[in-house]
Amino acid sequence: MAYIQFLGAAGTVTGSKHLVNSGADSSGKGDFQILIDCGMFQGLKEWRERNWQDTPMPAREIDAVVLTHAHLDHCGWIPRLVKEGFRGPIYATQATIDLCGIILPDSGHLQEEDANFYNKHKKSKHDPALPLYTLAEAETALRSFQAVPFDETKQLCPEMSFRFVRAGHILGSSMVELSLQTNGRSRRLLFTGDIGRVRDHQLTPGKVVRSEPTEGEAADVLVMESTYGNRQHPTDDPRARLAEVIRATVQRGGTVVVPAFAVERTQKFVFMLKDLMESGQIPKVPVYCDSPMAIKAVEIFIKHSEEYSDDTRKLIGQYGSPLQWPGFTFASTSEESKKINDSKYPCIIVSSSGMVTGGRILHHLAQRLPDPKNVVMFIGFQAPGTRGFIIKSGAPEVKIFGEMVPIRAQIAVFEQFSDHADTPELLRWLHTFTQKPSTTYLVHGEPAASAQLKDAITKELGWNVQVAHWMEKAQIG
Ligand SMILES: [Zn+2]
Repeated sequence: MAYIQFLGAAGTVTGSKHLVNSGADSSGKGDFQILIDCGMFQGLKEWRERNWQDTPMPAREIDAVVLTHAHLDHCGWIPRLVKEGFRGPIYATQATIDLCGIILPDSGHLQEEDANFYNKHKKSKHDPALPLYTLAEAETALRSFQAVPFDETKQLCPEMSFRFVRAGHILGSSMVELSLQTNGRSRRLLFTGDIGRVRDHQLTPGKVVRSEPTEGEAADVLVMESTYGNRQHPTDDPRARLAEVIRATVQRGGTVVVPAFAVERTQKFVFMLKDLMESGQIPKVPVYCDSPMAIKAVEIFIKHSEEYSDDTRKLIGQYGSPLQWPGFTFASTSEESKKINDSKYPCIIVSSSGMVTGGRILHHLAQRLPDPKNVVMFIGFQAPGTRGFIIKSGAPEVKIFGEMVPIRAQIAVFEQFSDHADTPELLRWLHTFTQKPSTTYLVHGEPAASAQLKDAITKELGWNVQVAHWMEKAQIG
């Protein structure tokens, strides 16, 4: 019998990996197996250690990967899967493939750097410390990617086909509608990946790509994210307070440091800064986007104009590409990055990684955190266990490069930038379904968030909802 097995993002928000097994076909031929997403576990050590475990079935027996979007917690384990022997195609939208083209090699590079660092400082109990995969291995994996346009049906095997529909989460993001023939019946499975903001252009100012996941879905089995299953995003426009914090910091001679993922969130923030500068709400101080992939991320973004929000279209129409904006510097080499460190004048530094788990943001924070003139601005989700989470939660110090760094800089938190639907939005989206799923499995959420969303859906829609458990197999009847 066909089944789904939850290999990740069950009980946590990272490591998204859902296996779908078609069951043996009528001729008794072997099962067809696909992975919906193949993400990396991030955050607490307990989770990260799972990145080192093999898949429960040999990787070479998995026939294909279908990828919803280019966030590392959804795509970051693909090079490892290939390293373990996977030889099938990896299907994604063209924008997702373009983004993976910068994100996965960068991830391989960071892991090599980490392993080198630990080996040099003998800080690992593993001797020698190894990268999960290298930059070269990430590049090898990219060769297996194949583009599938939105709304086009792709046949995987006689029993299985799928179609990408819009998720409205980040550039290129999709949900996967999977059709499966099992036991002589046709079953429709919907995997949401991450769900973007629902019908909320007013509530998501600065949204750079169009919002709104596809509505009017129908599914027999729904596998749904629950990141914000117990939360509601603030509904106020962040721009006024953002401007206030930046003005105050610049006035006292400080620097604004913003940990942000180089893709999407950085663009969103930079567009908002430009808007605030041009309308005279903040001074025109230098803005540094310091990430090895910042320039490439902007180029990919510019290329996919079909996904722009109206605001983005207007801003680009008026001021052109961010790469040409005066006062905005996109640093790609490490020399350029070091120059930013020398800057003694007020400026705004946007650097990755977004959860301060690695990358150039570490240098900027090690240098700027001890000074109370500066401000660290959080505009993204911080998973428990990450340095970002520690700094955001008001700790007096944080370990960076093996040293404890005192946190004296101010901390400013903005929750309005989320690219995930919150609880009311998720419920609103579910209300548009034309067919009630026989079972809804909640994944990609902390246990409390998933549990509360389960209650909310059960109460409001009367659906049968279960919170998925790690390694659990759910039969598809
Ligand atoms: Zn995502």
